[in-house]
Amino acid sequence: MTVKDDCIFCKIANHEIESNYVYEDDLVCAFRDMSPLAPTHVLIVPKQHYDSIMDDVPAEVLAAIAHAVKEIAKSEGITESGLRCVTNVGEDGGQTVKHFHVHVLGGRKLSPDMGEGFAK
Ligand code: AMP
Repeated sequence: MTVKDDCIFCKIANHEIESNYVYEDDLVCAFRDMSPLAPTHVLIVPKQHYDSIMDDVPAEVLAAIAHAVKEIAKSEGITESGLRCVTNVGEDGGQTVKHFHVHVLGGRKLSPDMGEGFAK
């Protein structure tokens, strides 16, 4: 298992630090963003460390993330109303935590052009 000692999302994904979890399987877990931009704002993170989606992320991990999106949508009751999935990469992409994660946002109408911020 590849984890980084100084990575907060590695610690949360492996329960070294507990969080507000909404989904978990062998490969990924999902927890509520500490600064939510929408009624549903969940972060899906792999349990192993990858810097971003640009890293060598195995297909099975990407599939687990896609599965998690659907399970979270169901449990949050936003399958019909819709949602947005975002993954930020690097400085221009606005990535602040250097552990690959996918934001799942929903529960309100999000701007179609995504604005300056992805949830505005
Ligand atoms: P990004 O800017 O795409 O890297 O997103 C990082 C997200 O992680 C931000 O929306 C933060 O609010 C969120 N975040 C950072 N630290 C934590 C934490 N300990 N628990 C929950 N969410 C966090």
